[in-house]
Amino acid sequence: MTEALDHAQERLDFFDTVAAMEVAGRVMEDARAGRHSEAALARALTIMAGVHRARDEYPESMRVVLEALEIWQRIGDLAGEAIARCIDARVLVAVGQSDEAVAEADRALVAADRSGDRTARIKALTTLGAVCVSIQQHDVGIEHCLRGLQLARGFADELAVGMLLDTMACGHLGRVEPARARHDYAMADAELTLAAELSTEAMMIARRHGHRRYEAVAVANLAEGVALGGRPDEALRLLEGFRLDPQQDAAAVMTHYLDSRGWVYLELGRHDEAIAMFAEALALAEGETAAMTYHDHLAQAYEKAGDLRRALDHFKAFRALFERIASDAAKRSASVAAVRWETAQLLRESRHDSLTGLPNRRALDEILAVEAVDRAVLLVDVDNFKRVNDTYSHLTGDEVLRRLGMILGITCRAGDTAARFGGEEFAVVLDQMGSDGAGDAAERLRVAVESYDWSAVTDGLTVTVSIGVAHGVPELLAVADRNLYRAKNSGRNRVCA
Ligand code: GH3
Ligand code: MG
Ligand code: MG
Repeated sequence: MTEALDHAQERLDFFDTVAAMEVAGRVMEDARAGRHSEAALARALTIMAGVHRARDEYPESMRVVLEALEIWQRIGDLAGEAIARCIDARVLVAVGQSDEAVAEADRALVAADRSGDRTARIKALTTLGAVCVSIQQHDVGIEHCLRGLQLARGFADELAVGMLLDTMACGHLGRVEPARARHDYAMADAELTLAAELSTEAMMIARRHGHRRYEAVAVANLAEGVALGGRPDEALRLLEGFRLDPQQDAAAVMTHYLDSRGWVYLELGRHDEAIAMFAEALALAEGETAAMTYHDHLAQAYEKAGDLRRALDHFKAFRALFERIASDAAKRSASVAAVRWETAQLLRESRHDSLTGLPNRRALDEILAVEAVDRAVLLVDVDNFKRVNDTYSHLTGDEVLRRLGMILGITCRAGDTAARFGGEEFAVVLDQMGSDGAGDAAERLRVAVESYDWSAVTDGLTVTVSIGVAHGVPELLAVADRNLYRAKNSGRNRVCA
């Protein structure tokens, strides 16, 4: 099954989303039926999120990746968490939520560094670099890529190297115009040269690995840089050196290539050939965003060729798509935001008790699973609570529990956790607490409950609790429970440590 997922990931790396989806979908189903581990489910979900992202299905990608993220965090797999966050960051950038994207890519890197897993670290650095470059933070983007590059080269991870080189080339190309605007032409030329070197290396790597998409991207980047440097003839030769193969090349590869070539023709004043390239790209375009771009380019090409009537036709088509896409993008961004909110809400609900609003047993177990210095646990059990229910009502009993939750919450220091342990039992986790401190805190709590004005709930009602304390032992809950039992047996309304 790990093999199947490796295969799916590899198919995804080569943008073969159909095959990747098929395998990941099957593993997901089996895992949900309990036939695979949670880690396998999380991995299948992560791949599925990548598939949706590659297909521009952002809300779906977001929903799936957040589910994966929740599992990775729950099982404490930092590398998995990092990789899921990388996808999340890329989706956020795609829907225009740049700040969130940078923050998420940062979190991916933190998790990756803590995991020590090299694939995760390379992915996180690549993502952070690409996110920064895409929001025009070229310097920082290049910095991150350089770190990723060192790591990837150190491990002979060639495809990762290629991807990083591509991103860096984009970063350097992005620095050309600002340099020219400062009249720093020497710097602009240096950036162009560097971008060309990086793209060339990326191109060679993609070629060695038979990765057509990366190769097309690298060639197009290279040609763009060369044309930007005022050498369109050379750019054309570069593009001519890459032969499209309709049998094996995805539409995105072909359209990207045709578009770059169209631009170079335009630069060379060969308008008819430019128009032919853009028209072919338009015919192959799969999504509306691509179609919009090629209508725009066709409008410009016809205008340069002096055919203003056709230029206007394409301009109108471009405008119509632009308006539709802009409103779709707003909807998509809103829908991604809604998915994030709903997921956060579900996550909150799954870790909180609905009666008292306190963290529940699941959340408590998660807190206890994380090591801490000098931790103490108090187990708090309501005395003769059955009698409260029987004498007054179950609803009164509920109200008592709600108010107890509130008293516990108030009596805790910031950083302590009061949780509903189950039934009429609560647990309080106190970190960095000396053994006297824990006993004192328990006693304060006991007094706070005893002296609370319970008659406000129902006339004549009194409530007390017994508390078992455990401190500085490995089995905190078991020891606290034993001490609670002693407190009950020695008369209730007391603390035993
Ligand atoms: P002791 O002092 O020995 O702890 O006596 P007790 O009556 O508190 O203990 P026991 O375990 O016999 O009874 C606990 C009762 O708490 C039984 C159960 O009906 C009640 N209870 C558990 N959860 C809830 C709840 O959510 N709401 C209400 N109203 N009652 C609850
Ligand atoms: Mg009890
Ligand atoms: Mg009780």
